[in-house]
Amino acid sequence: MSETPAIGVPGEQVPQGAAPGMQAPPDPKGNVFLTSVDNIYNWGRARSMWPMMFGLACCAIEMIVVASARFDLSRFGMEIMRASPRQADLMIVSGTVTKKMVPNIVRLYNQMAEPKYVLAMGACATSGGPFKEGYNVVSGIDKFLPVDVYVPGCPPTPEALLYGLTKMHEKVFTQSVRTARWYRKDQLNEPIPLPILGPDLYDVRDYEALRIAAAKAAGVRAASERDAAAGGTASGEAQAGWDGDGQPGHNGGTR
Ligand code: SF4
Repeated sequence: MSETPAIGVPGEQVPQGAAPGMQAPPDPKGNVFLTSVDNIYNWGRARSMWPMMFGLACCAIEMIVVASARFDLSRFGMEIMRASPRQADLMIVSGTVTKKMVPNIVRLYNQMAEPKYVLAMGACATSGGPFKEGYNVVSGIDKFLPVDVYVPGCPPTPEALLYGLTKMHEKVFTQSVRTARWYRKDQLNEPIPLPILGPDLYDVRDYEALRIAAAKAAGVRAASERDAAAGGTASGEAQAGWDGDGQPGHNGGTR
């Protein structure tokens, strides 16, 4: 019975102890790398992160500049800003977040495919910025969306945004397919409920707290009205006969 011939270049020395037929051929030598699934997967995600193409205010100009030749966003494979949320995995919230825009921003976030990330760019998106507590401005997009990286400044420079993007890449590299919430069955990845814009902006997740506060306010109002009515009767009796309609009453007065 003949022995199985080893694969390889004739005349090349076979390593001692190697099983016949199991030697690596010379061609792939130096071209084979061993790595973990997490590492190769995170490398792929971090090096081809596509931002969504939208801007809210002046910070968006700085974001646009990052894509120019001077700052060269394409060095990270990120120069293709997607016009569709379904093809984007990074939302850069660049600008003032008005209450009118929030339902649309949340809707766009819900339409993005997972895994997805949010970068809050500038003082406005981070905390409301110069318009904080304004009647029409939200004090930071993190009131509604899970923000991964904050970039401060008003506006942040393109270099600052680039730094924030590198921090985002670092964060991606710390994640594992075994623990990231997108791949876990025990963690719900429900869409974020759309806030309702009425006289003010309402987060429906606060419904229960709002209902209790409203009930409490209604109770306080009813009690104060009862007190006022009781007090009104007493004072009316003491008022020498004037009714609530301003006419002379039955308990005295001019009659
Ligand atoms: S942080 Fe400053 S530059 Fe950016 S959107 Fe707000 S006001 Fe404009």
